[in-house]
Amino acid sequence: MHKYVRDFETICSEVDKEYANYIPMAPDIVQTSSFYYPSYEEFMEDSKDEKSNFVYTRGANPTTKLLEDKLAALCGGECCRVFGSGMGAISATLFSLLSSGDHVLMVNTIYGESVQFVKDLSRFGVAMDRIDVETTDDIEDYLQENTKIIYFESPSSQKFELLDLEKIASIARSRGIYTVLDGTWASPLFQDPLAFHIDLVIHSLSKYVGGHSDIVAGAVIGSKELVDLISIRGHHALGSVNAPFNSWLALRGIRTLPVRMQQFDQSVQRVIQYLMEDPRVHRIYHPMTASSEQKQLAQKYLSGYGSLLAISLTDPSFEKMVEFVNELKVFSIGVSWGGFESLVLPANKGTNQQQLIERGLSSTHIRMFIGLESPEILIQDLNQALTKVYGGI
Ligand SMILES: *Cc1c(COP(=O)(O)O)cnc(C)c1O
Repeated sequence: MHKYVRDFETICSEVDKEYANYIPMAPDIVQTSSFYYPSYEEFMEDSKDEKSNFVYTRGANPTTKLLEDKLAALCGGECCRVFGSGMGAISATLFSLLSSGDHVLMVNTIYGESVQFVKDLSRFGVAMDRIDVETTDDIEDYLQENTKIIYFESPSSQKFELLDLEKIASIARSRGIYTVLDGTWASPLFQDPLAFHIDLVIHSLSKYVGGHSDIVAGAVIGSKELVDLISIRGHHALGSVNAPFNSWLALRGIRTLPVRMQQFDQSVQRVIQYLMEDPRVHRIYHPMTASSEQKQLAQKYLSGYGSLLAISLTDPSFEKMVEFVNELKVFSIGVSWGGFESLVLPANKGTNQQQLIERGLSSTHIRMFIGLESPEILIQDLNQALTKVYGGI
């Protein structure tokens, strides 16, 4: 057999250790699992802290680190850890802070999987209550000796109710309870929970930060002490790691986050103005249309409006509501939100009546996301679908 002089095995496995002599405008996607070390001593030094040093991408990766630093800066936090999904960040945070015998208080309507995760922790001796409160002060009535975490969203899922962040932080701090806020609705730009002494803020980067409906990722931001604990117990060990390419896409999303948020803020106000005047729409759930107490909270805590809202229809028919969403041409039916495209998602699955009643949602409750299309086109689309199913006004 012919023998090649070239050593294929060596060429294929060789590593180019020369550093490139260019400075790219966009950050590198450091698509690597592990990192080389010139000496044993340097390797031993870095491997003492794999969450901070570039040893292995499950611990730290330069592209993800750039994203973490940017998110920490945006949220005014000391430290950020990025995960492979919003749920990765939520589950790792709760897992890291809780022990057997602890109690978690979950306030108002919360993302379904987050509630399910805490319910499942009962297998490890963690108790939970999911409560609805009229005002933030009512939370005190539900606290227990062993309450370790108050977990909430503000504005909440489905009903978009606000809580008084400063008050929750002060109630919790006086009793040594952690406060964890899923702040996805407002993005890092429109609400500043850490400034009001909330301990940890979580964002699903799959929404506004990614912004293009092409990634699933999440982040937790807070003090170095807490984020380090979460990194060790909940990131390095549980392994919900973000792929470097997805961190790069999130970084690219951040470049346009301010202009996109500004557009969402303007568009949602225009669409809500229309919805408020349409008698076929029964109720609008959004801070802009809430009670005066809620508006005061919005005034204090929000610096802009997120474009996720919900409506219920005047005609209670489930079948007609299904017809209505099917008649929409510009709005699509789909989960998630925060991308470029407008979406509707009925809460009524036809089989979850009990759940709807428990959450105080009507049979025609529809979650809506206002995307980057022209608000006038979106209004036309809503109007034509409403007219087709419920008649003109
Ligand atoms: C989407 C979402 C999550 C979950 O995030 P994933 O990235 O889908 O895991 C959590 N909380 C809120 C408020 C969300 O909208």
